[in-house]
Amino acid sequence: MDWYFVEGGDRKGPINDVEFDGLVRSGRVKADTIVWHEGLGDWQSYGAVSTSAVATADGTARCVECGQTFPTTEMLQYEGSWVCATCKPVFFQKVREGIVPARGFVYGGFWVRFVAKFIDGILLQVVNFIVRIPLLFMTDSAHPSLTFTFITIGISMVIAAAYGIFFVGKYGATPGKMALRLRIVRADGGDVGYGLATGRHFAELLSSLTLLIGYIIAAFDDQKRTLHDRICDTRVIRTNA
Ligand SMILES: [Zn+2]
Repeated sequence: MDWYFVEGGDRKGPINDVEFDGLVRSGRVKADTIVWHEGLGDWQSYGAVSTSAVATADGTARCVECGQTFPTTEMLQYEGSWVCATCKPVFFQKVREGIVPARGFVYGGFWVRFVAKFIDGILLQVVNFIVRIPLLFMTDSAHPSLTFTFITIGISMVIAAAYGIFFVGKYGATPGKMALRLRIVRADGGDVGYGLATGRHFAELLSSLTLLIGYIIAAFDDQKRTLHDRICDTRVIRTNA
């Protein structure tokens, strides 16, 4: 992504992400620097743009307020934004005054997600049933062999994976979640995409294997995260809120 910014009244750029990141780290681009990149409606202060700050793989994140990078262990997260310890008072003063627009995420709670899962479960059963019909003619269905049982389990796992990864990767939600206006997003509200959708599908197996404790913890989390949401740093939000 190419960035442009205003410095000393002059428009600078385009510069790439890496160069831009360097300017942020060096403090040349600050929270009040006016910036623009393609896809951004208008020129905005970097502080406003970087509300979508995401923790990076090395465990650091950019403070939404001052633009400096810190280890996330020294920061706190507010509605998908990271704030450093120094900026915390200023930032929350702004939140109270309504200067910082609340990201407005309303997280999908335990029960609505449970119902969505139930709908997906029914749909998957229907698909499985249809797929198994031809198999029934190939075996003595009253006394299925062990091989046959394993094949059907394998098929249903493949169907579940294809279903979850396709719909979440393409639309950000399975049909069950769509029906209840839920959407899976990254911590910053961005799209999950196929890669993360795949990781999340398999991470979800862990939530199942933990006797569903991985799901139940969502009921007690302020952002309603399941175990697989925590592993993948995803959130399930309501899209009609
Ligand atoms: Zn800061």
